[in-house]
Amino acid sequence: MKVGMYYNNRDVRLEELPVPQVGDGDLLMEVQASGICGSDIMEWYRIKKAPLVLGHEVTGNIIEVGKGVANGTEGFSVGDRIFATHHVPCDECRDCLNGYHTACHTFHSENNFAPGGFAQYLRISGRSVRKGTTKLPDSVSFEEGSFIEPLGTVVRGLREVEILPGDTVLVLGSGLIGLLHIKLARALGAGTIIATDVHEYRLRTAERFGADHAVDAAEDISAVVAEVNGGRLADKVVVSTGSPAAAQTGLMSVEKGGSVLFFAVPKPEVHLDVDINAFWRDSKSIKVSYAASPLDNAQALELIRSGRVEVADMVTHRLPLERIGEGFRLTCEGTQSLKVIMEPNSVTEGTDQ
Ligand SMILES: [Zn+2]
Ligand SMILES: [Zn+2]
Repeated sequence: MKVGMYYNNRDVRLEELPVPQVGDGDLLMEVQASGICGSDIMEWYRIKKAPLVLGHEVTGNIIEVGKGVANGTEGFSVGDRIFATHHVPCDECRDCLNGYHTACHTFHSENNFAPGGFAQYLRISGRSVRKGTTKLPDSVSFEEGSFIEPLGTVVRGLREVEILPGDTVLVLGSGLIGLLHIKLARALGAGTIIATDVHEYRLRTAERFGADHAVDAAEDISAVVAEVNGGRLADKVVVSTGSPAAAQTGLMSVEKGGSVLFFAVPKPEVHLDVDINAFWRDSKSIKVSYAASPLDNAQALELIRSGRVEVADMVTHRLPLERIGEGFRLTCEGTQSLKVIMEPNSVTEGTDQ
């Protein structure tokens, strides 16, 4: 079968691998839609394990069901349209019992996908079959279903900072994840939403998807927020870029009683300068959010199914595996693409925009 093998951000090759063997408890998926994620292009994070097949925002149909997997209406059958996740928490450890499912050791250490979503066929095993695989409602397309995981991570993040009706929300970084934050904040009843980025294309897109103000990141952002917000800073700040400058801007742009959500963080060697006294005195909080739990994904699916958060309008490219190198290049540049979806079993040459 064809796979997209990742060596580095500029070198992702079409290669051949055998179709994975299906064992007891496994499912084999024919991959229909597989989104390229912002985390797939975090080279410092990915290159340690290269070469490898990435891809975790994935939907498709079941073509083989392993022994021991419950069959029929309560379980899975050949032909079912599904969404699956590679990381699933154990639901038993202290972190899970505390609600910190994405800090669970099992969540961090198990990868139940072989070889990965950028392949024609994907084996799903173990806990991911039992707790990480969901049938897609008929009204949700494969392409929309590939947004469940990324939207799930955003659901988790905004739950962490509790968007209240009328909150002023500042989103730093208007890539795909920043845009999903804008859309969800809007759906949750936010008041004024201000978005930043360094690219003009992304600023215009942020406006299209619900930002009231889209501001060049080179400007004095906290001053702009105060200016458009009656002298107040932002109630909720979302840092959705790894830029150290944006992280620092986020810390300086939050109002008293507000929260800064670090959805993305700078590289490990970067340390931030926090005026902790100001946070302490003014009841400001710093929150973080990493990945998505099964509950987050279930809520994301419901937001997509009900139409409360539209995602189909964010797909700019649909590409066959032969064009995976181009898909990574487009995602890295981020100046003419939002979501790039790989379609490993498509027979077309792909569509741009
Ligand atoms: Zn992702
Ligand atoms: Zn656990």
